[in-house]
Amino acid sequence: MKILVTGGAGFIGSAVARLAIARGHCVVNLDALTYAANLENVASVAGSPLYAFEHANILDRPALSRIFAAHRPDAVMHLAAESHVDRSIDGPGVFIETNVNGTYNMLEAARAYWTAEGRPEAFRFHHISTDEVFGSLGETGKFSEDSPYDPRSPYSASKAASDHLVRAWHETYGLPVVLTNCSNNYGPFHFPEKLVPLAILSALHGRPIPVYGDGGNVRDWLYVEDHADALLLCLEKGQVGRSYNIGGENEARNINLVRMICRHLDRVRPDGAPHERLITFVPDRPGHDRRYAIDPARIRTELGWRPSVTLKEGLRRTVAWYLANRDWWQPLLDRGEFGARLGTGPRM
Ligand code: NAD
Repeated sequence: MKILVTGGAGFIGSAVARLAIARGHCVVNLDALTYAANLENVASVAGSPLYAFEHANILDRPALSRIFAAHRPDAVMHLAAESHVDRSIDGPGVFIETNVNGTYNMLEAARAYWTAEGRPEAFRFHHISTDEVFGSLGETGKFSEDSPYDPRSPYSASKAASDHLVRAWHETYGLPVVLTNCSNNYGPFHFPEKLVPLAILSALHGRPIPVYGDGGNVRDWLYVEDHADALLLCLEKGQVGRSYNIGGENEARNINLVRMICRHLDRVRPDGAPHERLITFVPDRPGHDRRYAIDPARIRTELGWRPSVTLKEGLRRTVAWYLANRDWWQPLLDRGEFGARLGTGPRM
């Protein structure tokens, strides 16, 4: 299959591109190379005859039409997005542009191409989204595919809008779509503004590890390579017009997740006082959702998918990757992107 992957130079898109190529698919990686992108993420497949790169913005409709016509993909996996909640609070505009208008552009370019190709039944437009569209849970319950949408941050609202557009393009124009909503990912090549790499790199530098509020917010963590595996399965076997929730069934409070990382670092780098001393509570994010949890019953029973690693094992692999890949993250730290959160606090 030839798959047009948008956002393939980002964290999850690059994991999808690497896995798809390992399984013999062709990948056309369409990416605007924003601050969150890194072509090093796909360096291991860049020389493959199965891989092509298109430097393009999903807001540029003529470029999208040209790319569809030039590559004639069998499927689209749409991951390109602005993805960081904190940034969406500071500057929501680009989230509306990329996540809403960009998805609209992708749908229209895909629809024109699909129509010109004679509306092939096998074509798929797979939209990759988040569990954050469902809002915040109390102490109990889980999100199912039928949970009502209740987005509460500019990021989740923009992703919710994009989900609605994708469903509308299926209902109105018959575009063969599949949607997935996934919980929090972690793993190799994760941009260090996100909690897991931020905690690892702060600890490695002996700097404060910032944890929002009381650290009690609960997330359901999924190793990124398991997510990529689930996405390819949904693309190939998912029912048209259906959505699938993807989760690791690995709920953890942020504070406990950070403690797990610290204890793991204590074991592999027993070179001083316990890393937990670095944990520093910082003022909470406005509108911080308290708990997310995914009920993955549909993808498990209909498609037979389960995550392959536990949270403990996934974190072990992730920490090992950051320890072994300083060449990947040091240039990002040198760029100073994380001034406010990493590297400026006093050494502890
Ligand atoms: P990321 O920020 O690491 O990567 C996003 C990629 O999209 C980057 O390579 C960037 O250059 C590209 N991009 C951004 N704007 C673009 C534009 N206008 N045109 C073309 N390319 C553009 O994001 P991620 O964490 O890999 O997330 C990928 C997708 O998965 C997103 O749609 C996100 O909403 C969704 N998702 C993420 C998570 C998570 O935990 N990270 C969980 C569930 C769903």
